[in-house]
Amino acid sequence: MPLRLKHLELNGYKSFASKADFVFSEGISAIVGPNGSGKSNVVDGIRWVLGEQSYSLLRGKKTEDMIFAGSDKRARAGMAQVTLTFDNSDGWLPIDFSEVAISRRAHRDGSNDYLLNGQKVRLKDIHELLARCGLAERTYTIIGQGLIDNALALKAEERRALFEEAAGIGLYRDKREDSLRKLDATQRNLDRVLDILEEIRPRLASLERQAKRARDYHVVKRELDAVLRTWYGYHWRRGLTAVDVAAAAATQAEAALAAHQARQAEFDQQVGGLRSRAQEIRRALNETRGRLDSARSEREALARELAVAEERRLESVASRAGHRKPKLCDRRKPDGDGRQRDRVQ
Ligand code: ATP
Repeated sequence: MPLRLKHLELNGYKSFASKADFVFSEGISAIVGPNGSGKSNVVDGIRWVLGEQSYSLLRGKKTEDMIFAGSDKRARAGMAQVTLTFDNSDGWLPIDFSEVAISRRAHRDGSNDYLLNGQKVRLKDIHELLARCGLAERTYTIIGQGLIDNALALKAEERRALFEEAAGIGLYRDKREDSLRKLDATQRNLDRVLDILEEIRPRLASLERQAKRARDYHVVKRELDAVLRTWYGYHWRRGLTAVDVAAAAATQAEAALAAHQARQAEFDQQVGGLRSRAQEIRRALNETRGRLDSARSEREALARELAVAEERRLESVASRAGHRKPKLCDRRKPDGDGRQRDRVQ
């Protein structure tokens, strides 16, 4: 069987603060080191990059536990990245590259990114790719530390399950169980369909009549729709003509209104002229009345002067004739306009 795993790169992942590149060449690769040196972290890295979501399997509680937490000599890392590179020169992975690198990145805010040959993809895309080449969830086996001891201590049937899992039989067993479940569900559906058929059979004639009525209904409905379209089209055209006529009448009415408004403006102007003329005449009339009043006053003053002159003349005539002068205060004489006036001595 050709070797397909080419290398594994850990950077900032758990105890691997700096970049560590594991190259897998032909034969068996072994990683040797003292306790606590990080051997299991390498295995965790492989699980993690293949999309593992269970933190207990990754020996942590949250995403941050996957990132280098810092040491006395070195500050903690902001991000962890693991890249697993496969040889795909024989095209076993359904992707058009001779080398396929799957990467996973974790950030301290808890977010995870997945990359395929450096391009960001969704976890779903990674799962789909691996599923199509038989590397889907649980189709590879990682025998972790202590598992051999545990396996030897297992009961016969538990051990069988473990070997089945390791040999990849578990997947097919699951698939078989799934298929049997689906078969069972299909059988139940079939039984139900047969029951329904039995139930329907006596009503078949009536259902056929109903179906024919439904078909007839659709034919009549289509015809009705066609006739209604013609009917509404006719009314639509009539409506359009009526709108045109109304629009023409409105235009005429607007023109007539404009002409009336122009005439009214003319009349308003004439009325304005007549009003100012009336004002002028009123003013002239007032002036004439004023002059008339002054002429009257003047005439009255002259009449008084005339009366006084007449008195004097009569007095002088009387004195010249030696007669007693008549008492003037009893004498009254109408003035020029016929009214009686008091004469004051
Ligand atoms: P053993 O053989 O005893 O199981 P191991 O070689 O498999 O040891 P691991 O269990 O892989 O060692 O590594 C454990 C070491 O990794 C511990 O020292 C632990 O402090 C360190 N470690 C785990 N997670 C982190 C982390 N996020 N940051 C820094 N160091 C970490």
